[in-house]
Order: sequence, then structure tokens, then C-alpha cells
Amino acid sequence: MEKKIVVGNMKMNLEAMEIEDYLMEINIMDYNKQVVFCPSSLYLPYFIGRNYEVGSQNIAPYEEGAYTGEISAAQLVSMGIGCTLIGHSERREHFKETDEVVRKKTEIALKSNLKVILCIGETEDERDDDKTYKVLQRQITTALKGIAEEYHNKLIIAYEPIWAIGTGRTPTNIEIEDAISFIKTIVEELWFKDMKVIYGGSVSDENIIILEQIENIGGYLVGGASIDPVRFKKIIEVVVNQ
Ligand code: PEP
Repeated sequence: MEKKIVVGNMKMNLEAMEIEDYLMEINIMDYNKQVVFCPSSLYLPYFIGRNYEVGSQNIAPYEEGAYTGEISAAQLVSMGIGCTLIGHSERREHFKETDEVVRKKTEIALKSNLKVILCIGETEDERDDDKTYKVLQRQITTALKGIAEEYHNKLIIAYEPIWAIGTGRTPTNIEIEDAISFIKTIVEELWFKDMKVIYGGSVSDENIIILEQIENIGGYLVGGASIDPVRFKKIIEVVVNQ
């Protein structure tokens, strides 16, 4: 069985002193290379060179040049960063990232040799209107349009229903399993390849044992609970030591 992964999206949290404490807490554990920490870009260098992977939360939609304030995929790779989140719902919502921008970033990242964790998911209204699968299909097919099949093993899809992010609410295990199956089918139709699909949305040290019963889950994208190293380590222990 393929190893599951746990990705921590620390978002724009923690200041310098807190990061020092955080690192002291996490650097004493064996992660078996199954964990990816995605801190603020500012702190990325502090996380490099350990027995976990390090990811960026975002990249620029351009390869290089006069784009003040941005960080390119190539710059990340040159610093030893192995992967990036792309298309997180907070970027889509607050920074108006369209499916096309997500596609462009996905292409640049993969061509620059960065692994991509592509985030997709429906809003609560879309779910209530029975549009979940339509939205997922659109997000996947647009993001992967024109992207060569050879990159399939550099890509992971994170299914993150927007209404479950930071809310303490999660879909049922059956709903998650069905959405993951659907995503795998769409990718198989495009690329004839199986795809690792992880789940994100209020994953915590309290619900991880229940989520672990989902058959086809490839791992987890953890937001809020990854900011507290003690809680995050509890989640990791359940997944990595299974
Ligand atoms: C996220 O932001 O990717 C996320 C899953 O957040 P949370 O775990 O806080 O719901």
C-alpha cells in the first residue's frame, strides 16, 4: 500500500519566537518522509534539511522578472523546497485566483520540478445545489489542461470542501470516499493514471481516527491543527504509525 502523507498548511500564522518553539517541538520526531510542512514563506529556510518535506503555500503565476513581492517556483527549488500548494480556496477567494491562474501556476511549478498539491473543493451553496461533482470536474480539467501526463507522479490532489475549512465541520466518511473516487476517475479519464488524493477540512487530533477508516484516502491537508505542534504530532502519529 502506498504511504499516506500529512501536509501542514500553517497559513499566515506564528511569529519568529513562536517558530523557534515550534521547530524545537517538531524536530524531535521521526516522520518517515511522510510529512510536509508549509510555513509562511519567510520561515521556509528554517524548515529545510530535516527528515520531513517542506512546501510553499503559493507560487507566482510568472516564471521570473519584475513582479514585486512574489516568489517564483524556480527560486523555491533553488532553496531546496520540494513542493507547493496551488489553488487553495483562500487564494481563490481572497486573491481572486481563477481556474486559469491555477492552471498556469500548476504548469510553471511542474516544469520547474516542484511537486504540486492542487487544492479543489466546492462551496456550501454548490454542495446544496448538487453541483459538487460538476465543480470538482471543472477545477481538475482546467488545472490539468495541456499538462503532460508524465507529470502525474509529481501531483497530488487535495479535496477540500470550502465549507469544512476552519469550521469544525467535516463531510461524512462516505461523502469523502465518494468525492475521492470521483476525482480519481476524472484523472484516470484524462491521464489513465491513478492519482493520490488527500482530504482537507477541519482535520484534527480528535477526528483523525474516524477519518482513517476511509479506504481510498491518500492522506490529509491540515490547517488550523498544524499550528499547534502537539496536536499536529498526534495526527501524524496516527497516520504515519498505522
Ligand atoms: C486548509 O486551510 O487547508 C485547512 C484544511 O484548514 P483547516 O484544517 O483549519 O480546516
